Amino acid sequence: MIRLFNTLGRHIQDFEPMDPNRVKLYTCGPTVYDFAQIGNLRAFVFNDTLRRTLESAGYRVRHVMNITDVGHLSSDADSGEDKLEKGAKREGKTVWDVADFYIRAFEKDTTALNILPPNGYHGKAEPYARATDFINEQQDIIGLLLDKGFAYITEQAIYFETAKMSDYGKLTGQKSSDKEVAARPEVVVDNNKKSPQDFALWFFTVGRFASHSMHWTSPWGEGFPGWHLECSAIIHSTLKEPIDIHTGGVDHIGTHHTNEIAQTEAAFGTKLANFWVHNEHLLVQDEKMSKSKGNFFTLEDVIKRGFEPLALRLLFLQSHYRKQTNFRWESLSAASSFLKNLQAWADLKFQDTLHKNGSDVNYGVVLEKIKECLFDDLNTPETLAVLSQFIQKTEKNRVAKDNFQTFLEHLDELFGLDLSKRADVGSEIKSLINQRQIARQNENWSASDALRNSLLHKGVEINDTEQGQIWRRV
Ligand code: AMP
Ligand code: ZN
Repeated sequence: MIRLFNTLGRHIQDFEPMDPNRVKLYTCGPTVYDFAQIGNLRAFVFNDTLRRTLESAGYRVRHVMNITDVGHLSSDADSGEDKLEKGAKREGKTVWDVADFYIRAFEKDTTALNILPPNGYHGKAEPYARATDFINEQQDIIGLLLDKGFAYITEQAIYFETAKMSDYGKLTGQKSSDKEVAARPEVVVDNNKKSPQDFALWFFTVGRFASHSMHWTSPWGEGFPGWHLECSAIIHSTLKEPIDIHTGGVDHIGTHHTNEIAQTEAAFGTKLANFWVHNEHLLVQDEKMSKSKGNFFTLEDVIKRGFEPLALRLLFLQSHYRKQTNFRWESLSAASSFLKNLQAWADLKFQDTLHKNGSDVNYGVVLEKIKECLFDDLNTPETLAVLSQFIQKTEKNRVAKDNFQTFLEHLDELFGLDLSKRADVGSEIKSLINQRQIARQNENWSASDALRNSLLHKGVEINDTEQGQIWRRV
């Protein structure tokens, strides 16, 4: 049984999908106006771990993720500029080109981090659901909300009237009256908006948005959708509400997800999602890493400093997804050493002389222990502790190659660290390793030392152990 912390209700709950074999999972994807910062990537590694955990429990997961390519203003509320328009101005390109470019960049980052692509919907050129491909579906929801009296029209926009939903804001656990006080006055830019909490479903291309380059006709006037609407529309047309799990970063709880719930539940009279699972932020010196603060790094920065992308993945796995975590280069460096140790351990599969035929290590038991930790609200730090202890204990009595390889494949399914995909050293290195083994057997110490040095120059370190020599890449 998987247990997850459900933001709706704020407690850890047994997870049971509506269909006993299948899980409907939706993730709010990136706004593609710039490169992802590694805080965003933490969110997607968390999602990926959730998906892998669900799959390892035997569920078939249908995972849909959107791409925001229109309507996300520089504030989560209805103020500021559209981020895509801003990106286009900055780069002198069209908004469509900007979106295409950063979708490809996002794919490159997520591929490097072994994040599985969503599998529940295929757009024109990628496995994501672009907001701009669901304009009609978004307008259908607006029509329903207007018909049912949940929305109203001003000169500038069509708004959702939050006062009409008695449980508006239930995801935050805050009373609606508290939220009203908390809403900042500067976000009210339309004097005909009835309440600062009301949010735009559709902006008309008038006033500050008169020259908005992305716009569509609608029964109510030319314009473009508000940001929150796309997720409700995409879920309705792909997975269909209610879904089992909806994910995103904690910054989405108060506005974006709260508004997704309001729109869907008002329009369709159905619950949007049974579980809401949110990842905490990656911080820099105790502040949220974000583009707008300028305190961010990208995967490119990580690679430029000589780290493998998977070291970043491992760093994220080392902290619990619901814990705020400060990003420090020293921590990444430690994660990178840990990854190198795991890789050296995986490389033992090439070192035949050390393998016994019989099995005195029970991989099944440790795999179950690891899964138990994952099923316990994705306790990834604990899984890594279990794995490290296991490696220390068993290094001296490894088992037959096939069992070991199968075990590495299982670990890769859970952690995505490519341990089962390692390649053997080349024939030249292999021959030097064998020569050193023979030199040692013949007690030819000077030849043995010379061979060890020459291997070290080629990036391979030899250690002599009770079982004989072991090599590892350095
Ligand atoms: P955005 O492209 O801004 O819509 O963000 C994409 C995802 O990254 C969302 O789920 C955000 O909640 C998440 N996110 C943004 N900044 C951070 C951060 N510093 N740490 C963790 N997740 C973040
Ligand atoms: Zn969303």
